[in-house]
Amino acid sequence: MKITRIETFLVPPRWLFVRLETDTGIVGWGEATCEGRSETVRTAVDQLSELLLGEDPLRIEDHWQVLTKGSFYRGGPILASAVAGLDQALWDIAGKHFDAPVHQLLGGPVRDRIRVYGWVGGDEPDEVADQIAAQLEVGLTAVKMNASGKMSPHGSVSELDGVVRRVAAAREVLGPDRDVAVDFHGRFTLATARRVASLLDELHPFFLEEPVVPENSHLIGRLTESTTIPVATGERLYSRQEFLPVLQAGIAVAQPDLSHAGGITEVRKIAALAETFDVQLAPHCPLGPLALAACLQVGFSTPNYLIQEQSIGIHYNQGAEVLDYVLDKTPLRFVDGSIERLTGPGLGLEIDEAAVRDADRRGHAWRGPVWRHPDGAFAEW
Ligand SMILES: [Mg+2]
Repeated sequence: MKITRIETFLVPPRWLFVRLETDTGIVGWGEATCEGRSETVRTAVDQLSELLLGEDPLRIEDHWQVLTKGSFYRGGPILASAVAGLDQALWDIAGKHFDAPVHQLLGGPVRDRIRVYGWVGGDEPDEVADQIAAQLEVGLTAVKMNASGKMSPHGSVSELDGVVRRVAAAREVLGPDRDVAVDFHGRFTLATARRVASLLDELHPFFLEEPVVPENSHLIGRLTESTTIPVATGERLYSRQEFLPVLQAGIAVAQPDLSHAGGITEVRKIAALAETFDVQLAPHCPLGPLALAACLQVGFSTPNYLIQEQSIGIHYNQGAEVLDYVLDKTPLRFVDGSIERLTGPGLGLEIDEAAVRDADRRGHAWRGPVWRHPDGAFAEW
């Protein structure tokens, strides 16, 4: 079997899909989305395609080595996302070739379903409560929220009080048997993150995410040592080597993104590394169906897996929805707050190719917002 054609599709709302065709007729799909940078990643995929065309798609590990190291300069989200999309597509091809779901090729299932969570926004506690009620209605048992808008790095009393009130509103709706995680998005300094953590302690958040920006990962140990709330990070870390320091610093939850951290090949190794630190995985995935399927395939074969993020039906997916590009939507339905084990070959999804080609003609130019503080200085989103 040889790879004969590689295509990319820039599809709304903000995703980049990769399609690999082989001379046997087997086609593999992957997702190389890097939110706000997908056009740049598309160019990277096009260039990396030179290394794959004419090659045997089943030599996945060897391709990963060449793709990530082959041009001397390495690392970073653009290259790691491009490799991730290609890697997912290679695993999809392998699964279809052997007529097995990817998790079967990774050692077989260790669980039958994966708990998933959804994201909620809301500036006022009442809105938070309404949005959580909506997520409970579609069957979820866990949510994540920022619990804040734009924040001063050194938060004021009213800002910090607002965070506590929103999380308290969430806890009230959820009760003791469901979970709320809080994502700081790196908006605070370390000192303020520590202060907020102590204020949130009695509300028992599932975890606190990105308490400091990833470039300040060397500080995260000071937070893990000062709070009993499990600390999570990793959506902006792109390799085992970048995860090692935060694992050593005592995080509880590792959140690699299957479309940013080198794909299935790298994230299963991050999972194994995390296991040696007694850390569980909760991969980042506010992305499309292929990224979600790749996460789930790793999750079904990974013992230390906590929960899966997903954005089915979420308000910020404007112009298209996770399930729009999937022919059979039933594999991704929620059952008691979980997604059941995917049983189809490869990634386990049938992509609606006509819809993808049509969407690519529309394209997108999604960008992350640029926020400013009242004094005009840059603010973390
Ligand atoms: Mg996050």
